[in-house]
Amino acid sequence: MGHVQPVEAKISRPGNRSVKWEYDRPVLSPNSTMTPSSPAQPVHNYGIAMRATPRSPGTDAAATVNPVISGWDEPAWQAFAAELDAWVSQGRQASLWWRDDDAGQPGPAFDRLLSFAADVALPLGLAVVPAWLAPEVAERIRAAPGPLVVLQHGFAHANHETEIQPGAPKLRPAECGSARPPQAVLEELAEGGARLQAAFGSRFLPVFVPPWNRIARAVFAGLPRLGYRALSAFGPRAVAEPVPGLLQVNCHADPIVWREGKRFAGASATLERLRAHLAARREGQADPSEPTGLLTHHRDMDPMFWAFLEELLGRLRSHPAVAFPPLPSLLDAQPVALG
Ligand SMILES: [Zn+2]
Repeated sequence: MGHVQPVEAKISRPGNRSVKWEYDRPVLSPNSTMTPSSPAQPVHNYGIAMRATPRSPGTDAAATVNPVISGWDEPAWQAFAAELDAWVSQGRQASLWWRDDDAGQPGPAFDRLLSFAADVALPLGLAVVPAWLAPEVAERIRAAPGPLVVLQHGFAHANHETEIQPGAPKLRPAECGSARPPQAVLEELAEGGARLQAAFGSRFLPVFVPPWNRIARAVFAGLPRLGYRALSAFGPRAVAEPVPGLLQVNCHADPIVWREGKRFAGASATLERLRAHLAARREGQADPSEPTGLLTHHRDMDPMFWAFLEELLGRLRSHPAVAFPPLPSLLDAQPVALG
């Protein structure tokens, strides 16, 4: 079985005022003994090229990814399916969820996201930036079919960090970091939450998604007082409830390589991230009750990422080992009034 490297997912390290959730890329040991199972049949055929034959043994996956045909990758799927089989053999169902960030502005990418979300009919947590919200986008979201809910993604997605933090090699952008007094940040967030609630009513869940997945402790400690019920950042959570009344439900696979021109990381790398988190949960190396989250950014996805996403969710939505729980229950956040 795959070996997972030590995980870093700290939320309250003394002395660290602003914390990013991140974890090292899990590594599958070369002598993995996973038994491939039959890959599930795709629910949809979105017209992408399927990889018909496995790679030859010993081939370096990263070196052979063809951006045109690697929208799907059968060996990677088989490893992922083997992990799902392990859940089934233990009588368990793997909970997954899907979050898409940076919504608020209109455009073809947003149109495509809404269209696909309606087609695949899986719960989608759409993280909307309040200050970006255009009236026509609000109208489209209100009219969207299916289990789509709105989460709050910061206020204006503006970086306020201007100084390099001690120990950090470079500036790490954050809207909700320690550059401003926590109360000023919280007042802004409350204003943003009020806007989303006015725009979306019960479709808005009091769940906060910090831009760049970074938030200072003094800020998230104040979220429950404002009515927020959950926080979603990135990486395996250290604890389920970092402060009383605030559930943490993160994402664990972000298939965009931001520092390399926002390129798609590829099917193999993404499936491996999802598989590794599932395995870590199943083996007790990560919180078993934290659902495995897939993070997308509709504005920054290339055609191969779209093809992969459509194929992945099309396959998973009917897989017997997988559950996509309704987001209000998964995030423990029924619509409530903020303030
Ligand atoms: Zn963002």
